[in-house]
Amino acid sequence: MSIYWEKCSTCWRHHPVRQCWLHPEDMVCVYCCLACPERRGCPRPAWLRELKPVEAAGGGGAEAKKVLESLLERLGGEG
Ligand SMILES: [Zn+2]
Repeated sequence: MSIYWEKCSTCWRHHPVRQCWLHPEDMVCVYCCLACPERRGCPRPAWLRELKPVEAAGGGGAEAKKVLESLLERLGGEG
């Protein structure tokens, strides 16, 4: 599903919008989608609970943790 940056069909503000599942001719922003009275009966709301920013993928968290753990172990052994 694509995200467009257009005018919301409901509130007419410029927000990222998605195509409404119930009304395919409408493009709704996340706010109007979440506040939509028809949302409860909507099989596939255009916007799910994705308000939180997407965390940066990757970053080698597991590897870094392994290294840190081995370091701590060594330090603890000499303590
Ligand atoms: Zn809107």
